[in-house]
Amino acid sequence: MSMQTGRLYIVATPIGNLGDITRRAVEVLKRVDLIAAEDTRHTAGLLSHLGIDARTLSFHEHNEQQRSQQLVELLLAGKEIALVSDAGTPLICDPGYRIVSACRERGIDVVPIPGASAVISALSASGLPTDRFLFEGFLPRTQAKRRKRLQQLSDFPSTLVFYESSHRILHSLEDMLTQFGKDRRVVIARELTKQYETMIDQPLGRLLQTMAADTNQQRGEFVVMVAAGESPVMEKGFIDGVLQVLVEEMPPNQAARIAARISGQPKRELYQLLLKLKEK
Ligand code: SAM
Repeated sequence: MSMQTGRLYIVATPIGNLGDITRRAVEVLKRVDLIAAEDTRHTAGLLSHLGIDARTLSFHEHNEQQRSQQLVELLLAGKEIALVSDAGTPLICDPGYRIVSACRERGIDVVPIPGASAVISALSASGLPTDRFLFEGFLPRTQAKRRKRLQQLSDFPSTLVFYESSHRILHSLEDMLTQFGKDRRVVIARELTKQYETMIDQPLGRLLQTMAADTNQQRGEFVVMVAAGESPVMEKGFIDGVLQVLVEEMPPNQAARIAARISGQPKRELYQLLLKLKEK
């Protein structure tokens, strides 16, 4: 008789307020044989708050490869394992990618236990368009690389979302100013779910002044959300013109596809627009 393979649970934990732990998370953390934690001491605090006495094992960026192999062996031997990070959802700018892909390759079940994540919490309260967004995570540490990346993103036609720490928040905002200009709308979510939770929604130039003038505003953890850039090709009427020219030269489907690549708008919408333009 073959032994049943265990499951790997990816368990979200709070991003500040411990009240945000979910019932399922508690139930799974109680039940598993082992909890793989980014920082076992940090997780011990959460577990003691929840009254859970569990076995933990460190799982961080420096031992992820070796630990993944070890944990896969345990899972194949039938153990149930939970993966947690210090805050929020594992794998979202946190370790875990290696073990999840290793489990998928070996046919081991990976079960998400959803909960808090700073990116989704921040976006949901930002007032910026959320129908599409680009989650960029952390920007590069060096200024040259950071500016280059920001320049590449400058005209991206969706809300941009960045994670940032207190060490680099001002530097990143200064670099954004050089690449996006002072009038770009930016919303900053600081210390979400914690005592000093703050949201600031201002044009970039003013926002930088606000943050620079008050060192308290530079403390803690940040999600920086930037309104989509208005690229010149997106100006009203321009894309209609592009479509009209293209459709004279090629089939509508191809015209819509090329216009979508130029404008960043969904092909489906442009195809509909083409049909309307043809009716006129
Ligand atoms: N896995 C986490 C998640 O699901 O959001 C993110 C971990 S990442 C190492 C840490 C970064 O997430 C911080 O530097 C900050 O940008 C963001 N973050 C985490 N908690 C936050 C909070 N309470 N308020 C604002 N940003 C937060």
